[in-house]
Amino acid sequence: MKKDLFCKSLSMWQENGLFYVENDTSCGILSVEPIFFGQGLIIPKFHVEKLSKLYPEQSKDFLSLPETFHEKILNDYKNNLDYLVSFYENLYDNPQTPKSKILASYILNSDQLNEIPIGFNTGINMGKPAGQLINHLHIHYIPRRESDKTNLGFLTAMNKLLNN
Ligand SMILES: [Zn+2]
Repeated sequence: MKKDLFCKSLSMWQENGLFYVENDTSCGILSVEPIFFGQGLIIPKFHVEKLSKLYPEQSKDFLSLPETFHEKILNDYKNNLDYLVSFYENLYDNPQTPKSKILASYILNSDQLNEIPIGFNTGINMGKPAGQLINHLHIHYIPRRESDKTNLGFLTAMNKLLNN
C-alpha cells in the first residue's frame, strides 16, 4: 500500500519535536495550512482509515486529544505565545506546502494573534466529497474566538477551511 502523507511524516514529526500534544496512540500537530491561529490536526500514530477500526482505548486517546490540544493552546496563549508565533514565522520561512507561506502571513497579520480562543470546533472529513484529502483518519481542531461571533458554527468554520 502506498504510504499517505501522515504515515510518511509521523516519525519525522516525532523526531523534530513537532507533536504539539500526544498520548499513547494519537498525536496532535499545528496545521501547516492554517486559516485559524492555533488550528490543528489530531492523528492516530498508525495507519487507520475509519473511527470504527480503532480499539476502545485508541478511540478514547483519539477523541480526547482535541480537548488536550485546546488546553495547551489556552496555556500557550497565556504563558508561551512566542512559541506559537515562532511556529508561524518558521512556516513562513520554510513553507511545507504551496499554500503555507501565504497562510502563515495571513495568520501572523490577523487579529487572531491578540485574541484568546475561548471555544473550538472539531470535524472529521470522511471521503473526497466531504473534503478529505488524506486517507488517514484525522480530526480538525478549529479554535474559535469571540470576534468570530458573526460567523459562528461548525459549518461556517468548515466552509472557511474548505474554500481556502
Ligand atoms: Zn496513513
